[in-house]
Amino acid sequence: MTAVVELTHAVKEYPGGVRALDDVSLRIEPGELVAIVGPSGSGKSTLLNLMGTLDRPTAGTVAISGHDVAGLSDRELSALRGRSIGFVFQQFHLSDGHTATENVATGLLYAGTPRRTRKPLALEALAKVGLSHRADHHPHQLSGGERQRVAIARALVNSPAIVLADEPTGALDTTNGHAVLDLLHQLHSTGTTIAVITHDQEIAAHLPRQLAMRDGHLVGDK
Ligand code: ADP
Repeated sequence: MTAVVELTHAVKEYPGGVRALDDVSLRIEPGELVAIVGPSGSGKSTLLNLMGTLDRPTAGTVAISGHDVAGLSDRELSALRGRSIGFVFQQFHLSDGHTATENVATGLLYAGTPRRTRKPLALEALAKVGLSHRADHHPHQLSGGERQRVAIARALVNSPAIVLADEPTGALDTTNGHAVLDLLHQLHSTGTTIAVITHDQEIAAHLPRQLAMRDGHLVGDK
Protein backbone atom coordinates (compact mmCIF):
# COMPACT_ATOMS: atom_id res chain seq x y z
CA MET A 1 0.00 0.00 0.00
CA THR A 2 1.19 3.55 -0.65
CA ALA A 3 2.06 5.37 2.57
CA VAL A 4 0.24 8.62 3.28
CA VAL A 5 3.54 10.10 4.39
CA GLU A 6 6.96 8.60 3.77
CA LEU A 7 10.25 10.17 4.83
CA THR A 8 13.45 8.48 3.72
CA HIS A 9 16.68 9.62 5.38
CA ALA A 10 15.23 13.12 5.64
CA VAL A 11 17.54 15.87 6.85
CA LYS A 12 16.65 19.50 7.56
CA GLU A 13 19.47 21.91 8.18
CA TYR A 14 18.80 25.56 8.93
CA PRO A 15 21.21 28.29 7.95
CA GLY A 16 24.00 28.39 10.51
CA GLY A 17 24.29 24.62 10.45
CA VAL A 18 21.54 23.64 12.94
CA ARG A 19 20.46 20.09 12.06
CA ALA A 20 16.85 20.23 13.21
CA LEU A 21 16.16 16.82 11.63
CA ASP A 22 18.88 14.26 11.14
CA ASP A 23 18.34 11.16 9.00
CA VAL A 24 14.67 10.56 9.80
CA SER A 25 12.90 7.70 8.02
CA LEU A 26 9.26 6.89 8.73
CA ARG A 27 6.03 5.76 7.09
CA ILE A 28 2.50 6.63 8.11
CA GLU A 29 -0.08 4.28 6.61
CA PRO A 30 -3.69 5.14 5.70
CA GLY A 31 -5.95 5.00 8.76
CA GLU A 32 -3.24 5.47 11.40
CA LEU A 33 -3.49 7.72 14.47
CA VAL A 34 0.08 8.65 15.39
CA ALA A 35 1.65 10.82 18.07
CA ILE A 36 4.85 12.68 17.29
CA VAL A 37 6.20 13.34 20.74
CA GLY A 38 9.32 14.98 22.10
CA PRO A 39 10.52 17.85 24.25
CA SER A 40 10.82 21.43 23.03
CA GLY A 41 13.57 21.75 20.43
CA SER A 42 13.53 18.06 19.48
CA GLY A 43 12.46 18.75 15.89
CA LYS A 44 8.70 18.20 15.99
CA SER A 45 7.78 21.45 14.22
CA THR A 46 10.45 20.87 11.61
CA LEU A 47 9.04 17.39 11.01
CA LEU A 48 5.51 18.80 10.83
CA ASN A 49 6.65 21.36 8.26
CA LEU A 50 8.16 18.63 6.09
CA MET A 51 5.15 16.31 6.44
CA GLY A 52 2.86 19.26 5.67
CA THR A 53 4.93 20.19 2.59
CA LEU A 54 5.42 23.67 4.05
CA ASP A 55 9.14 23.10 3.75
CA ARG A 56 11.42 20.79 1.77
CA PRO A 57 14.19 18.57 3.15
CA THR A 58 17.83 19.57 2.78
CA ALA A 59 18.62 15.92 1.95
CA GLY A 60 16.64 12.70 1.73
CA THR A 61 13.07 12.49 0.46
CA VAL A 62 9.54 13.30 1.58
CA ALA A 63 6.62 11.74 -0.27
CA ILE A 64 2.92 12.44 0.28
CA SER A 65 0.61 9.69 -1.03
CA GLY A 66 3.48 8.56 -3.24
CA HIS A 67 4.34 12.02 -4.63
CA ASP A 68 7.96 12.99 -3.96
CA VAL A 69 7.84 16.69 -3.04
CA ALA A 70 11.26 17.27 -4.67
CA GLY A 71 9.77 16.65 -8.10
CA LEU A 72 7.02 19.26 -7.73
CA SER A 73 6.99 22.98 -8.49
CA ASP A 74 5.80 25.33 -5.72
CA ARG A 75 2.45 25.52 -7.45
CA GLU A 76 2.08 21.75 -7.71
CA LEU A 77 3.14 21.47 -4.09
CA SER A 78 0.44 23.93 -2.96
CA ALA A 79 -2.12 21.96 -4.93
CA LEU A 80 -0.97 18.70 -3.34
CA ARG A 81 -1.10 20.34 0.11
CA GLY A 82 -4.60 21.76 -0.49
CA ARG A 83 -5.86 18.38 -1.65
CA SER A 84 -4.07 16.04 0.76
CA ILE A 85 -3.40 17.75 4.07
CA GLY A 86 -5.65 19.22 6.76
CA PHE A 87 -3.99 21.39 9.42
CA VAL A 88 -5.12 21.91 13.02
CA PHE A 89 -3.24 24.47 15.12
CA GLN A 90 -2.91 25.01 18.85
CA GLN A 91 -4.51 28.48 18.61
CA PHE A 92 -7.35 27.39 16.27
CA HIS A 93 -6.74 30.19 13.72
CA LEU A 94 -10.41 30.85 13.03
CA SER A 95 -11.64 34.07 11.50
CA ASP A 96 -13.81 36.01 13.96
CA GLY A 97 -15.90 37.81 11.34
CA HIS A 98 -17.23 34.53 9.98
CA THR A 99 -19.63 31.86 11.18
CA ALA A 100 -18.52 28.33 12.00
CA THR A 101 -19.85 27.17 8.62
CA GLU A 102 -17.96 29.92 6.76
CA ASN A 103 -14.77 29.13 8.67
CA VAL A 104 -15.06 25.45 7.76
CA ALA A 105 -15.80 26.32 4.12
CA THR A 106 -12.46 28.16 3.86
CA GLY A 107 -10.90 24.69 3.97
CA LEU A 108 -12.23 24.23 0.43
CA LEU A 109 -10.94 27.46 -1.08
CA TYR A 110 -7.77 25.93 -2.48
CA ALA A 111 -9.40 22.70 -3.60
CA GLY A 112 -11.32 24.17 -6.52
CA THR A 113 -14.66 23.13 -4.98
CA PRO A 114 -17.58 24.87 -6.70
CA ARG A 115 -19.13 27.59 -4.52
CA ARG A 116 -22.57 25.98 -4.31
CA THR A 117 -21.21 22.74 -2.80
CA ARG A 118 -19.00 24.44 -0.22
CA LYS A 119 -21.75 25.12 2.32
CA PRO A 120 -23.26 21.60 2.30
CA LEU A 121 -19.78 20.10 2.65
CA ALA A 122 -19.02 22.47 5.54
CA LEU A 123 -22.27 21.49 7.29
CA GLU A 124 -21.43 17.83 6.81
CA ALA A 125 -17.98 18.37 8.38
CA LEU A 126 -19.54 20.27 11.32
CA ALA A 127 -21.90 17.32 11.85
CA LYS A 128 -18.87 14.98 12.02
CA VAL A 129 -17.47 16.99 14.94
CA GLY A 130 -20.86 17.24 16.66
CA LEU A 131 -21.37 20.96 16.05
CA SER A 132 -24.37 21.14 13.72
CA HIS A 133 -26.17 23.22 16.35
CA ARG A 134 -23.38 25.83 16.28
CA ALA A 135 -23.22 26.27 12.49
CA ASP A 136 -24.25 29.95 12.56
CA HIS A 137 -22.23 30.94 15.61
CA HIS A 138 -19.15 33.12 15.41
CA PRO A 139 -15.94 31.92 17.10
CA HIS A 140 -16.32 34.40 19.99
CA GLN A 141 -19.68 32.76 20.81
CA LEU A 142 -18.04 29.35 21.15
CA SER A 143 -16.00 27.71 23.93
CA GLY A 144 -12.33 26.90 23.32
CA GLY A 145 -13.19 23.24 22.83
CA GLU A 146 -15.90 24.10 20.31
CA ARG A 147 -13.51 26.40 18.42
CA GLN A 148 -11.00 23.60 18.11
CA ARG A 149 -13.77 21.30 16.84
CA VAL A 150 -14.61 23.91 14.17
CA ALA A 151 -10.92 23.97 13.22
CA ILE A 152 -10.95 20.17 13.01
CA ALA A 153 -14.02 20.31 10.77
CA ARG A 154 -12.16 22.78 8.53
CA ALA A 155 -9.24 20.35 8.35
CA LEU A 156 -11.60 17.49 7.43
CA VAL A 157 -13.89 19.24 4.97
CA ASN A 158 -11.75 18.42 1.99
CA SER A 159 -11.38 14.71 2.94
CA PRO A 160 -7.58 15.02 3.17
CA ALA A 161 -5.22 12.04 3.13
CA ILE A 162 -3.94 13.13 6.56
CA VAL A 163 -4.80 15.62 9.31
CA LEU A 164 -1.75 17.17 11.01
CA ALA A 165 -2.66 18.49 14.45
CA ASP A 166 -0.01 20.65 16.12
CA GLU A 167 -0.51 20.63 19.93
CA PRO A 168 -4.30 20.58 19.37
CA THR A 169 -5.09 20.61 23.10
CA GLY A 170 -2.35 23.06 24.08
CA ALA A 171 -4.70 26.02 24.51
CA LEU A 172 -7.50 24.06 26.21
CA ASP A 173 -8.34 23.14 29.79
CA THR A 174 -8.27 19.46 30.76
CA THR A 175 -11.95 18.76 30.10
CA ASN A 176 -11.99 20.39 26.66
CA GLY A 177 -8.61 18.82 25.88
CA HIS A 178 -10.00 15.37 26.59
CA ALA A 179 -13.05 16.07 24.45
CA VAL A 180 -10.84 17.04 21.51
CA LEU A 181 -8.72 13.89 21.94
CA ASP A 182 -11.89 11.78 22.12
CA LEU A 183 -13.01 13.38 18.87
CA LEU A 184 -9.68 12.54 17.21
CA HIS A 185 -10.07 8.91 18.37
CA GLN A 186 -13.60 8.84 16.99
CA LEU A 187 -12.45 10.24 13.62
CA HIS A 188 -9.67 7.64 13.57
CA SER A 189 -12.22 4.87 14.16
CA THR A 190 -14.05 5.98 11.03
CA GLY A 191 -10.89 5.87 8.93
CA THR A 192 -9.31 9.34 9.14
CA THR A 193 -5.49 9.36 9.17
CA ILE A 194 -4.18 11.70 11.88
CA ALA A 195 -0.79 12.77 13.24
CA VAL A 196 -0.80 14.64 16.56
CA ILE A 197 2.29 16.67 17.45
CA THR A 198 2.70 17.00 21.20
CA HIS A 199 5.30 17.55 23.92
CA ASP A 200 2.94 15.77 26.36
CA GLN A 201 3.94 12.15 27.07
CA GLU A 202 0.56 11.43 28.60
CA ILE A 203 -1.36 12.48 25.49
CA ALA A 204 1.03 10.46 23.34
CA ALA A 205 0.66 7.38 25.55
CA HIS A 206 -3.06 7.21 24.75
CA LEU A 207 -2.54 7.12 20.99
CA PRO A 208 -2.03 3.80 19.14
CA ARG A 209 1.46 4.66 17.83
CA GLN A 210 4.13 6.98 19.18
CA LEU A 211 7.04 8.38 17.21
CA ALA A 212 9.51 9.83 19.70
CA MET A 213 11.83 12.68 18.67
CA ARG A 214 14.99 13.85 20.43
CA ASP A 215 17.66 16.23 19.15
CA GLY A 216 16.43 15.87 15.58
CA HIS A 217 16.47 12.08 15.65
CA LEU A 218 13.62 9.62 15.61
CA VAL A 219 14.47 7.68 18.77
CA GLY A 220 11.37 5.52 19.19
CA ASP A 221 8.48 4.00 17.23
CA LYS A 222 5.99 1.89 19.14
P1 ADP B 1 10.20 21.47 18.46
O1 ADP B 1 9.04 21.72 17.56
O2 ADP B 1 10.29 20.05 18.91
O3 ADP B 1 10.27 22.42 19.61
P2 ADP B 1 11.82 22.57 16.30
O4 ADP B 1 11.59 21.74 15.09
O5 ADP B 1 11.10 23.86 16.39
O6 ADP B 1 11.55 21.69 17.62
O7 ADP B 1 13.37 22.89 16.43
C1 ADP B 1 14.41 21.92 16.30
C2 ADP B 1 15.74 22.62 16.33
O8 ADP B 1 15.90 23.44 15.19
C3 ADP B 1 15.93 23.54 17.53
O9 ADP B 1 17.30 23.46 17.92
C4 ADP B 1 15.62 24.90 16.98
O10 ADP B 1 16.29 25.91 17.69
C5 ADP B 1 16.12 24.79 15.55
N1 ADP B 1 15.34 25.65 14.61
C6 ADP B 1 14.00 25.57 14.36
N2 ADP B 1 13.63 26.45 13.43
C7 ADP B 1 14.77 27.11 13.05
C8 ADP B 1 15.06 28.14 12.09
N3 ADP B 1 14.10 28.68 11.32
N4 ADP B 1 16.35 28.57 12.00
C9 ADP B 1 17.33 28.01 12.77
N5 ADP B 1 17.12 27.05 13.67
C10 ADP B 1 15.88 26.59 13.82
